[in-house]
Amino acid sequence: MKLVSACLLGIKCRYDGKSKPNEKVLELSRKETLIPFCPEQAGGLPTPRVPQEIQGCSGETVLDGQCKVMNKEGKDVTEEFIRGAEETLKLVKLFNIKEAIMKQRSPSCGCGLTFDGTFSKKFIKGDGVAAALLKRNGIKVITEEDL
Ligand code: SF4
Repeated sequence: MKLVSACLLGIKCRYDGKSKPNEKVLELSRKETLIPFCPEQAGGLPTPRVPQEIQGCSGETVLDGQCKVMNKEGKDVTEEFIRGAEETLKLVKLFNIKEAIMKQRSPSCGCGLTFDGTFSKKFIKGDGVAAALLKRNGIKVITEEDL
């Protein structure tokens, strides 16, 4: 059993109200149990929602209270992101899940890469907030690009 970013399975939970189905993830769902989850929705953010980015750092530093997540209209959504990460961890523990497949470059789910905080489609190294909390708790995190 693995946790999966819900948008990769075709759930319309992205900021723009759309999904991002991935063929390899869908194929995997026919062979094993995948639990879809969206940290941003679980953190209390609406769908659709204003785009958000970690401000020039990583999910790790957001968890440590040293960096913020802001939306494109200048609203601080750090609290919602941390709550979403905690809810993700809660689900993983509930089902004793050891591995997650998460959407690359997302400020919540990204693993190894996230947007840089300038809303200009530029990336920097680092994990999303939920991915960082999962890793911190010993969960193996990969992305759809690793399949
Ligand atoms: Fe997909 Fe994760 Fe963004 Fe939700 S938070 S839309 S699951 S990438």
